[in-house]
Amino acid sequence: MIRLQVRTSSHAELVDITAEVQRVVRESGVQQGICHVFAPHTTAGLTLNENCDPSVAEDILMVLDKLVPWRGGYRHTEGNAAAHVKASLMGNSITMFVQNGTLALGTWQGLFLAEFDGPRQRQVWVKVVSC
Ligand code: ZN
Repeated sequence: MIRLQVRTSSHAELVDITAEVQRVVRESGVQQGICHVFAPHTTAGLTLNENCDPSVAEDILMVLDKLVPWRGGYRHTEGNAAAHVKASLMGNSITMFVQNGTLALGTWQGLFLAEFDGPRQRQVWVKVVSC
């Protein structure tokens, strides 16, 4: 398992990590298989979505803010309950296929670390399995 380091720079942002994960796949030497990506965090998650038009990521963050406002009478006393909820909505793992030594993604798909309580140093764990 490879541990990628991701430094986020905003309180909430989607960081495109597609190239870093592609590099892990390439260096693994696996030609056909599975790439499993896991975010070991409770206030950050992972999502696959469009990485061509950056306004898509902005829209996702805007909608999540409407759904889960920062102040909402939460019971979690640390003050970041909204970040926990958003991370759960995104999920913590993504599995992708590896074909011909590269991630098999849809035309517009990119993989994002979804930061909801940054900026912070985050990790993304990647395991590439031949099968
Ligand atoms: Zn918390």
